[in-house]
Amino acid sequence: MTDLSTSVRYIKGIGEKKAQALGKLGVFSLYDLLSYFPARYEDRTKFCPIAAAPEGEGVCIRALVADTPRLVRVRRGMELVKFRAVDESGSVDITYFNQNYVKDYLSRGDSVCFFGKVERSGGRRSMVNPAYEKEDKPRGVTGCILPVYRVNAALNQRTLRDAVRQGLDACAGQLPEYLPEEIRARNGLAQARYAFENVHFPPDFEALAIARRRLVFEELFILACALGTLRAERTKESGLKLEGRDFSAFYSALPFTPTGAQRRAIEEAAADMTGGFVMNRLVQGDVGSGKTLVAAALCWLCRENGYVSAFMAPTEILCEQHTATLSKLLAPFGMRVGKLTGSMTAKEKREAKAAIKAGEYDLVVGTHALFSEDVEYARLGLIVTDEQHRFGVRQRSALIGKAERPHVLVMSATPIPRTLALMIYGDLDVSIIDELPPGRQKVDTFAVDESYRARLHGFIRKLAGEGRQSFVVCPKVEDDEEGESALKSAEEHAKELAKEFPELKVACVHGRMKPKDKDAVMAAFVRGETDILVATTVIEVGVDVPNAALMIVENAERFGLSQLHQLRGRVGRGAFKSWCILVSDNKSEDVKARLSIMTKTNNGFEIAEEDLRLRGPGDFFGSRQHGLPEMHVADLGADTQVLKTAQEEAKALLAADPQLSLPEHEAMRARIAELFRNNTDSFN
Ligand code: ADP
Ligand code: MG
Repeated sequence: MTDLSTSVRYIKGIGEKKAQALGKLGVFSLYDLLSYFPARYEDRTKFCPIAAAPEGEGVCIRALVADTPRLVRVRRGMELVKFRAVDESGSVDITYFNQNYVKDYLSRGDSVCFFGKVERSGGRRSMVNPAYEKEDKPRGVTGCILPVYRVNAALNQRTLRDAVRQGLDACAGQLPEYLPEEIRARNGLAQARYAFENVHFPPDFEALAIARRRLVFEELFILACALGTLRAERTKESGLKLEGRDFSAFYSALPFTPTGAQRRAIEEAAADMTGGFVMNRLVQGDVGSGKTLVAAALCWLCRENGYVSAFMAPTEILCEQHTATLSKLLAPFGMRVGKLTGSMTAKEKREAKAAIKAGEYDLVVGTHALFSEDVEYARLGLIVTDEQHRFGVRQRSALIGKAERPHVLVMSATPIPRTLALMIYGDLDVSIIDELPPGRQKVDTFAVDESYRARLHGFIRKLAGEGRQSFVVCPKVEDDEEGESALKSAEEHAKELAKEFPELKVACVHGRMKPKDKDAVMAAFVRGETDILVATTVIEVGVDVPNAALMIVENAERFGLSQLHQLRGRVGRGAFKSWCILVSDNKSEDVKARLSIMTKTNNGFEIAEEDLRLRGPGDFFGSRQHGLPEMHVADLGADTQVLKTAQEEAKALLAADPQLSLPEHEAMRARIAELFRNNTDSFN
């Protein structure tokens, strides 16, 4: 009995070896096979008389083999099969390279459909290696939309197509319908069976679009439901219930007036913390939007309730800066701010830990050291993590394991379009700070090519003369690194600049240095001891150097827009007019368009939308750190409309059946469980 769980070995033509090759693609069962959707399609729907075939464009022709295919030896080891094919309109010379079997398969007089490009030379037309099938023995390679799969060396398109065809014939009728009927009908979505058939073998583009829409919806809907159930479980977790306080007492002691967006974020978080449930909130705001203040306000709320807060930052330097900033902000309230980082001496650490245990600090700022095993907190009420995506999810959960369900506030300076944020941080609530404090200077941005090099040097020199510092970011560390040698390496470029500017101090920092050395170089730059800091993207994270007024990015085409925006955020943090120069010799229109977006807007959310549109969601976090399961059909960048609908439907469904315990939702519940089988640690 064949069903969806049957091994692909069942398929005719799939032996041990091919089954293994399929396994490498994650395809084991027939269901896996049917869910292995084409990566793209080739349009082979257009038929044309030979004489009317447009040159250089793939078309189908229907023709008679006009002479006996013959083998032609061009040189040793190279054989061709040649023949002529004709229709009422004209003739074409057809040639196959290294496919001698064609000579025996096709005979004079056969009626054959070909797909390929027709080339013209002199008065003759020719086709090389066109796909072919006899009219009376169709193989589905012409007159169709041909699915093209991702394959590996041991598999070819033909094998996969045939296998999928057999799989569909054997069990299309058994495909599970995960979508509740009502939702399917309301959104005009095709049935599972139709969708699977037509995503692999669509008769036309309309059918393909209908099939795809259904599958995209299903994928996003199930994901949204999965995230929703996780969030529901979380919300149910009762947590530390703080008493509310009037924040105006806090605001009035600040050196500035908080923006409306800051107040909103603070109030949203405070509502969580006083609601009796555990807070899991993401505060997203552009660089410089003032996230630190939001954290400070909540630390204050904690302390008002007699609880301690921990503030975790990814680097030593950031810890230094946050300790200083937060101490200043919180001093008026008599709050004591402590520090615990890896670089402290054993004695300092011992003392800090003792103070933490004794509850002498109201707030502890630190690196990973904050959650080494021997740190004990007295009454930990709130954990803030800055630049969250730099921390592994595991580290976050380790810290959370420290106390009885403390509240968690995650701060990220990587603006993400709202819909995507809901997906990526589906298990978190999201506050967005979409307003910058007043009076911010815009960082003027220019995209230039190598021809500006001399002027660029002049600019660095001029700014250095005024006492300003410059950042120069390069895409790689050393020159012998794999990849294109044309890319600037930080180390080489630093040497060049040192030669160019003998009167200035040039330093270099990159991710391959020991953290201690890295921090030392950064610290010297922060103190203004270095004029030019050549770096890789290690400086992306929020270091504050108010005196830096110039950010130069070499090989700017190599960076994502959001990343460029982050880099640009390193300057313009002080009183000085600042600039960002994106250097790229890349001539492609795409690159130019991308870089020109940077020159036109300073709004991180706008840039993120563009980045998402242009490069897809992967780049927001580089690797799949966001923990989302891989999407098979949906494109989070392009399918936003479907994403929204799917999210709304998921929300409504969960409102009615939070645990998906109704019998009609059982299939979905099972599907969700499966979805997260390999993703359990992604959502702590
Ligand atoms: P980020 O969101 O990048 O972490 P910060 O919290 O470091 O931003 O704030 C950036 C700068 O803006 C800091 O110097 C901070 O003192 C200042 N700042 C924050 N909020 C305000 C405000 N409401 N008005 C004026 N300046 C502010
Ligand atoms: Mg910050």
